[in-house]
Amino acid sequence: MHHPNRLLITGFAVVVVLTAGLAYLTFHAGSEGSRDASREIARQLDKINLVNELSTIIHDRTRFMQSMLLHDEDFTAAESWPDFNRIEGAYLETRERLLPLLAPREREIMEAIDRLDRDIADLNRQVSVLFLNGSRDEASKVLLQELLPKTAPLLSHLSELTQAQRMDVQKTLLLANAAAESGRKQIALFAGFAVLASLAVTIVAFWYGRKLSTQLQDMNTYLEQKIYERTESLLDTQKELLEDNNELTRMALTDSLTSLSNRTHMNQILHKEYSRFERHNQRFGIIMLDIDHFKAINDTRGHDAGDQVLKKLARLFEGAIRSSDFVARWGGEEFLICCTTIEEDDLLPIAETIRQLVANTDFAIGWPLTASLGCAAIVKGETIGELIKRADIALYEAKNNGRNQSIVSEFTDISVREL
Ligand code: GH3
Ligand code: MG
Ligand code: MG
Repeated sequence: MHHPNRLLITGFAVVVVLTAGLAYLTFHAGSEGSRDASREIARQLDKINLVNELSTIIHDRTRFMQSMLLHDEDFTAAESWPDFNRIEGAYLETRERLLPLLAPREREIMEAIDRLDRDIADLNRQVSVLFLNGSRDEASKVLLQELLPKTAPLLSHLSELTQAQRMDVQKTLLLANAAAESGRKQIALFAGFAVLASLAVTIVAFWYGRKLSTQLQDMNTYLEQKIYERTESLLDTQKELLEDNNELTRMALTDSLTSLSNRTHMNQILHKEYSRFERHNQRFGIIMLDIDHFKAINDTRGHDAGDQVLKKLARLFEGAIRSSDFVARWGGEEFLICCTTIEEDDLLPIAETIRQLVANTDFAIGWPLTASLGCAAIVKGETIGELIKRADIALYEAKNNGRNQSIVSEFTDISVREL
């Protein structure tokens, strides 16, 4: 005879087996979703690391350019080419690893970065060749006019890439959440059925469900945290890159021996003054100063002594000019002063003050040093080149008249020009 309980027990056993089967299928589906989500998360982390690496490489190259310009004597072509090639190699290798991970939109940005990077790498080589051949002015010009303007778009593309990546990451987070959500739903459904069949299985199912979703949540938190850290460090790198570029700009405009502005910088100043003159009729003038018999210092006291004299002269001129004026090393032992807001009559007193200052300073070379000065004030219709030419002619005249004197160029055709 069947014990009535036996049927119940069998039924219960069948329910338990069916519930267990259902539970297994539900858990399996849930963990499949979470596995997909974690694969996607791992892919995002790889991508973040590679983008960061790329930005560091670009940064390294700027650093390298800077140290080359700073320690010009120590660098030789033989040393710098392998460095350039190494940096370029690292860039290409990182880019190869990054490409398969990119979404279509990111790939477009990467192509733009590639194009700029190729240009910048070529220009870097060009600047280095010029620099290593001693053509500092030409190197500065390429650096200022071609290389530096390209770095800003490069930075903005890198930010764009980070931005696009952030959006991709957001998608991953949604995917992970959806996986967690659908896992939770399935488990809840199962639980409803299981409550009828077995309270014990239900408890186990909920326990497992909580564990699954906690794991996913932990992963999400970890990913968000990582993204935050990497984004911060990328921003820091970009900031440093900008600072380095500013430093490069400053160096390109400075004469390395005297720390005065160089010819390139003075040309920029003259153009600025010129456009002020054109717009507001604000006159400016220049004083071209050339040391008399400078070669004699090199010949009798040595080249280093000559260098020291040039440095001392630079400090002397900096202290002597008005705060609104500018002084630059124009060439070897030739200096150019730009006097802003003057009339023609003001130039001679300024030039004479500076000439006397040179003549009365002891340069410890064994004889008094003198300078000859040529001055010119801008007139309507004249170009900067013509102004410089007039100062040059006045200087030549001062030399011919016996040196140690200042001559102001008279612009006789002024009335004709102004008509
Ligand atoms: P003058 O009165 O006609 O100007 O005679 P000078 O000897 O000053 O003129 P010149 O142009 O014949 O010679 C200029 C010298 O300045 C020649 C060059 O070697 C020297 N010189 C140019 N740059 C530097 C420099 O950076 N350091 C040193 N020590 N000498 C320099
Ligand atoms: Mg001279
Ligand atoms: Mg000279």
